[in-house]
Amino acid sequence: MDLGYLKTKHRLFWVHFSIVASVMKFITHFLFLIPYFVTSLYYIIYYLYKQIKTSFGVETFLTLNIDRYEKSLLAQLRYGILPLRVETGRFVNEKRCDRICTFCNSGDIEDQIHFLFHCNLYEMQRNEIYVKARNIIERWDELSDIHKLASLFKHMSRALGKYVKDIFLLRRNKLYNCMTE
Ligand SMILES: [Zn+2]
Repeated sequence: MDLGYLKTKHRLFWVHFSIVASVMKFITHFLFLIPYFVTSLYYIIYYLYKQIKTSFGVETFLTLNIDRYEKSLLAQLRYGILPLRVETGRFVNEKRCDRICTFCNSGDIEDQIHFLFHCNLYEMQRNEIYVKARNIIERWDELSDIHKLASLFKHMSRALGKYVKDIFLLRRNKLYNCMTE
């Protein structure tokens, strides 16, 4: 038998063997890592879920002994469906950029953030809740609007309920007066 042929065959066997061994080693390592990945993924999802849930304090405001109207407004606020122009504009096919606040001259779209934190019409009521917030929530003035909202839900949902009711009723009266003028 040809010795060269046997040598090549022998070499090929070891090449194949080492490839298969490397693949097996990789798979074994990978299998070994699966529980680690699953556990990490679980913790990441759980952490994010907990962050969102506690940030908005869903349970807090739902269990509070406040009037139903305030609770309903807080729920609408929480789910982003408060009937401000950014929402009502949808029903009349208004472009989003045209859904401007008609209660001030800012030229801003009337969305939840504008309504709660920027519209001049509610400045007096806003000042009152800000005074309380500065005493309860750390570094209040440095927080972004979205963090302010999350903190109000978490730490001051009762005061937030009253604030939203006051300014929403003020808005409604203003709107009604504009329509009847
Ligand atoms: Zn405004």
